[in-house]
Amino acid sequence: MRCELARAMEMTFPKYRKLAGSNSVYAIEGTHHVTEWQPMGSEGWIVHRHFASDYPRFVWIREMEQCSGDFESLTSNEWKELIAARHEHQPTEAIGRNLDPLSHPEECSFNWAMAERTTFGVEASARACAEVRSDAGVRWALCEAQRQTWPLMILGGGSNILMHSDWPGLVMHMNIRGVEVIYEEGNVVHATVGAGENWHDWVMLATQNGWHGLENLALIPGSVGASPMQNIGAYGVELKDRFLWLEAINRETGALQRFDHEVCQFGYRQSIFKAEERERWVIVRVAFALDRDAPLCTEYGAIQSELEAMGVAESATHFDVAQAVMNIRRSKLPDPNELGNAGSFFKNPVISREAFQKVLANHPDVVHYALESGQVKLAAGWLIEQAGWKGYRKGSCGVHDRQALVLVHYGGGTGAELWNLAQSIMEDVKLKFGVQLEPEVNQVGV
Ligand SMILES: Cc1cc2nc3c(=O)[nH]c(=O)nc-3n(C[C@H](O)[C@H](O)[C@H](O)COP(=O)(O)OP(=O)(O)OC[C@H]3O[C@@H](n4cnc5c(N)ncnc54)[C@H](O)[C@@H]3O)c2cc1C
Repeated sequence: MRCELARAMEMTFPKYRKLAGSNSVYAIEGTHHVTEWQPMGSEGWIVHRHFASDYPRFVWIREMEQCSGDFESLTSNEWKELIAARHEHQPTEAIGRNLDPLSHPEECSFNWAMAERTTFGVEASARACAEVRSDAGVRWALCEAQRQTWPLMILGGGSNILMHSDWPGLVMHMNIRGVEVIYEEGNVVHATVGAGENWHDWVMLATQNGWHGLENLALIPGSVGASPMQNIGAYGVELKDRFLWLEAINRETGALQRFDHEVCQFGYRQSIFKAEERERWVIVRVAFALDRDAPLCTEYGAIQSELEAMGVAESATHFDVAQAVMNIRRSKLPDPNELGNAGSFFKNPVISREAFQKVLANHPDVVHYALESGQVKLAAGWLIEQAGWKGYRKGSCGVHDRQALVLVHYGGGTGAELWNLAQSIMEDVKLKFGVQLEPEVNQVGV
């Protein structure tokens, strides 16, 4: 079933403008973002995206917003008519990105099955789902959810969520694609990637192109758009090490905003988008800073020994490191296509030095890492294994027999059953070690 494009709600952004005495039209997408359609020849448009990285450009956008100078306000219908009167010619910088202002191919599917869209594979359905392929599509879906007063959730690859019940509202399924090199000089390459691109495919594309720095993050499931949410990390590298900025659309106002590294407040499996800005933004693209000459990062885990087993330890390339990481991951972690799981269910707990001394007194062999902050990170997998849960199974749910941090779903179970198991483990670890575990996986509909 489908629902046709509904009347759009009035969001604060975009705002539409025209330059008096010219045929140029503008969509103000946020306080720092403008898309400009400039006439080309008698029939075409050339599209420019402007980001106010300096004060004069910011003032230019503000004046446009206030309709001062020669700017005139347009309604969205007037703007659409003007745009439709010519053809768009996307500039090279926009290849792979859907800038078509009139494209709102998004439509809702109803009773959308979620089991095959989430790696736990727990049965659940959503009232409606909108596949979004552009910024315009995101705004369309936001308006649709507002208009219907439906709760909204954003779904990427579904590899970090546990559905506890059916979703009563709209699922915005992120499908914005495209990879674009925005800067290249010497060994440095900056590229933006659409939020709907598959994370692993992006890592392999970058590695094959010689844009290095992400290879240790190979084979992490999910989408590029979700990667900053918890600052994904593996084998000694975190997203934050190669992150430049991201752009996100405000769920209330429709405004496009750029977030640089500092603003994102990345921490261990944490960012501002999981804290005070939770559920306020839809991430639409992420920019990365890569380096053709990035040093290989092989000290962590079994990478070095895997490179030796591969016979390339002396001559390892970045591609070899990605391959080694993939081999290790495949040997340790269950493939969600074969056994439902969401990777590590719990975060590694970070505790104070005093609390650590208490754990150490009773468990001298506790696996731990001292942090620069003075705190101590414990290995949650070790705690769970020592508490006797590794390989445990009850009905449809269990704890993986090779990695105690991973809860698994054998099929036919529910989110509530998995959550009950997670709670039993948390209580038991608290009892035995005095340490509180915290889930890494997002709980939906608890
Ligand atoms: C086998 C396996 C291994 C894993 N290994 C690792 C690992 O090594 N390191 C690691 O860090 N993680 C790991 N994970 C967890 C997971 O892959 C990552 O957290 C991944 O980034 C989730 O991406 P996703 O697109 O599947 O997100 P989803 O599960 O679809 O969403 C996760 C959360 O992000 C929100 N979200 C998604 N997209 C957007 C967007 N565009 N804008 C705003 N909010 C959004 C969702 O609403 C939800 O709250 C693993 C998971 C599995 C199944």
